[in-house]
Amino acid sequence: MLGLLRRITQEVTAAQSLSAALDIIVRRVRRAMRAEVCSIYLVDSNTSEYVLMATRGLNADMAGSVSLKSDEGLVSLVGRRAEPVNLEDAHIHPSFHYLQGTGEERYRSFLGVPIIHHRQVLGVLVVQHEEKRRFDEGEEAFLITLSAQLAGVIAHAEATGAISNLNANATPRGADFRYKGVPGSSGVAIGRGVVVFPPADLDVIPDRETTHPEQEIDDFYQALDAVRRDIREASNRISQHLSADEKALFDVYLKILDDNSIAGEVVKKIKEGQWAQGALRQVIKAHILQFDRMDDPYLRERASDLRDLGRRILSHLQEKAPNIVERFSEPAIIIGEELTASMLGEIPIEKIKGLVSVMGSGNSHVAILARAMGIPTVMGALDLPYAQLDKADLIVDGYQGQVFTYPSEALIDNYQQIVDEERLLEEEYESLKDLPCETLDGQRLSLFVNTGLSADVARSLDRGAEGIGLYRTEVPFMVRDRFPTEAEQVVIYRQQLEGFAPAPVTVRTLDIGGDKALPYFPITEANPFLGWRGIRVTLDHLEIFMAQIRAMIKASAELHNLKIMLPMISNVAEVEEALALIRRAYAEVKEEGYDVKMPKVGVMIEIPAAVYQARTLAKMVDFLSVGSNDLTQYLLAVDRNNPRVADLYNSFHPSVLHALASIVDQVKDEGVSLSVCGEMAGDPMGAILLMAMGYDVLSMSSTSLPKVKAVIRNISLSQSQDMLREVMSLSHAETVVQTMTRLMREVNIERLIRPSKTTRVG
Ligand code: PEP
Ligand code: MG
Repeated sequence: MLGLLRRITQEVTAAQSLSAALDIIVRRVRRAMRAEVCSIYLVDSNTSEYVLMATRGLNADMAGSVSLKSDEGLVSLVGRRAEPVNLEDAHIHPSFHYLQGTGEERYRSFLGVPIIHHRQVLGVLVVQHEEKRRFDEGEEAFLITLSAQLAGVIAHAEATGAISNLNANATPRGADFRYKGVPGSSGVAIGRGVVVFPPADLDVIPDRETTHPEQEIDDFYQALDAVRRDIREASNRISQHLSADEKALFDVYLKILDDNSIAGEVVKKIKEGQWAQGALRQVIKAHILQFDRMDDPYLRERASDLRDLGRRILSHLQEKAPNIVERFSEPAIIIGEELTASMLGEIPIEKIKGLVSVMGSGNSHVAILARAMGIPTVMGALDLPYAQLDKADLIVDGYQGQVFTYPSEALIDNYQQIVDEERLLEEEYESLKDLPCETLDGQRLSLFVNTGLSADVARSLDRGAEGIGLYRTEVPFMVRDRFPTEAEQVVIYRQQLEGFAPAPVTVRTLDIGGDKALPYFPITEANPFLGWRGIRVTLDHLEIFMAQIRAMIKASAELHNLKIMLPMISNVAEVEEALALIRRAYAEVKEEGYDVKMPKVGVMIEIPAAVYQARTLAKMVDFLSVGSNDLTQYLLAVDRNNPRVADLYNSFHPSVLHALASIVDQVKDEGVSLSVCGEMAGDPMGAILLMAMGYDVLSMSSTSLPKVKAVIRNISLSQSQDMLREVMSLSHAETVVQTMTRLMREVNIERLIRPSKTTRVG
């Protein structure tokens, strides 16, 4: 049963269009359940009617042209109840409604199950028999299981279908297809798409037109020859250690390559205009699917041989493909299945207009980097048919978290107005650069910046930052192919410390793990955010920790503006251990003759355990800084990187607000400085509430800084405290945000935050 479910799901997932997917479902389900009829009805979102979309057993000509009203027939009953309906004789049920022309009158027994995705009924899957008999429990359970598995695939096919169904030669300009994701970095970008993808992964190769098919065919044959050579060499090298059976495997590989059908099919697709890598992906995947469908386990295994061969050919092809930088002649909107910080590192920043990642969420680290660089970004656009968007016209709306493909002139004009208004706002912010961040009633608030890239220093100074509240050292580690040496680290940190001296620079010890992987130090875990992350890794690797601390201290020689911050602290022992090591490193560096002072040391409060021990921690260190990104993730048990639960991730959740207030309450008499360096500090709404709670320093991306300063300068401390009082009594995150939006509008500061049209478009 499981195998059958898996195979049906695989086939449906690989379908090229919604209608093909639905057709596979009705065909396969009818056969699997030995039913006489299997049909799918989908809800038309405009009319709320249930449209017969595909059928086997009823009159297939009627598919797409007949429908049931939202209160008509058994199908809509299943939809309204969102529960299965299983009837021995459908005709005698009061809700039975015969759909003219379908031939349904012959069928008495009826089983309908809802297709539900993300709480929404997408449609109904129905099986029927002529004979009067109830479908048994096993059959009902099978159909429910299948429907639950297929709901996501159908939703995806429905959302992407608009583009997939188009004739490849038609220009869908003006189509305004809209795909929802989550906001990654605010702003609007209008431009052409460039799809980027990690190497050696056949699944993520995008479709791309080629203008040089002969060259592509040549490259393909060369790659094929190279793989043949590799296999022969490998076979010769280890032949004496192999049994005859094992040797035969190599022959199977060579046979697959010699088989003219695969090479021939790839060449045919290239001649039709597809580039070699895309043609290879299409052909190999189609063959893998055929093998996967087979019941014979030996033949099914051949699918993995094919996959392996496909990967080998691809890696030879990619050796010849132009280097990523050459491909960016014009600034573009970068699209990827899973954009990573290191991918961004490979593209010159002036070539990036906007970013779209199918995976990831608003607090993934790539989104944080995008905000630091001020690049409009949409994350978690799960339904975006990204592989087909190379060179497509796009609009990235980072405010609402949506992407438009093939936009009309009218939509482009609309968004262009937002871009123009953004420019005006920027000019307004520019005039605030040298003014203090002070409320109308004279309360000073320090605004620091979060940095990672060396370019951040100049940008931040330019925007009037008073210090660095968080330097994410993992960023320079991520763009290398090995750990930087102590001496290399000294140079990197010195740039930040020197750039800001005498203002303080808070350097965080390496915070890898979670969604921040180093290419040369992979950590594979089932639950990376609950695993080996941050201080846990570095305390387990003293050589990494000590080199980093020594480098930080050496870099601060004669400047004396270093603060060291420890991430992911969940218990006091970690702080004790780290403090002892920092003291040791300091003594060592001093002994080497450097003119250094013992740096101030602080702890990040980003795990609920640290919230409850905030006072104890405050007694041990010089400062505390709240990492509201992780604190939200861990308090609400919502993976910050998972777009499926992005709606649940909200730093204005009352529990998060109460935790933040409790930290202030616990440490206000301990004489430590208290800051927030998570993204909440850079959100004007968050900044107002945090200031009202009593946080001394807010640290944010340099992009957010002018906006926050503009807001703080237009409000009084007492107004912010009134707002805080009002929202602390609320019980829903959404109401907190709505109330704050209203209160900010009442004191006329909403206009400072974003272009006026951003809440209306789309
Ligand atoms: C945080 O968790 O809020 C934080 C600032 O650290 P990072 O986003 O790098 O995990
Ligand atoms: Mg964190």
